[in-house]
Amino acid sequence: PDGIQFTAANVDSLSQHFPACMSHLHRSLRRDAHLKHYGRLQYTLFLKGLGLNLEECLVFWRSAFHKITDDTFNKEYRYNVRHAYGDVGGDTNRRGSGYSPFSCQKILTEHPPGPGEAHGCPYRHFDLENLTALVQAMGVTDRSVLQGVKEDKDHQKYHMACNRVFEHLHKAEIKKAKDEGVMTSNQLETLVHPNDYFKRSYILKN
Ligand code: SF4
Repeated sequence: PDGIQFTAANVDSLSQHFPACMSHLHRSLRRDAHLKHYGRLQYTLFLKGLGLNLEECLVFWRSAFHKITDDTFNKEYRYNVRHAYGDVGGDTNRRGSGYSPFSCQKILTEHPPGPGEAHGCPYRHFDLENLTALVQAMGVTDRSVLQGVKEDKDHQKYHMACNRVFEHLHKAEIKKAKDEGVMTSNQLETLVHPNDYFKRSYILKN
């Protein structure tokens, strides 16, 4: 979907295409009407990578944080969203485009989440029980897939678990695309970026 501009109102329905990390951030945000700083950063940059422009991203966060006043939102949260988009901030190199969306590598290895934080990679940072519940909520009920996820996690093959879930959730579409010969070699590569997971899912399902 390169070049597609999504709006704040699209995010709930787009979340069916999110990998576990972003699905968890979205669910936590909808449950609590809040996310802590690093979760907001991880999610904001992902939304930017999706094609949400700054204005729509601000609309998204403002309506998601519905328990607070405009004044609090403007004072405490608006700046960081603008900063992520490069709209404000002192670093002239980054000015203009802001920060890049985080790769799996970065999410897996930097800033592990503490108590009450929703960022990170669930395949790595959740215990098995919470991970299983999340993956089931994403639509995986097949026991052999859940067992595979457990084994990948045990072996610290977090990407493998994520790709396994992707392949399972898109089984029919992948088969159809292969049968029709419209699967590019790029689409067969292991996913190593949450935004690539989204793009591949969105293209396969649309
Ligand atoms: Fe997200 Fe990457 Fe972890 Fe998948 S492997 S949940 S895309 S950080």
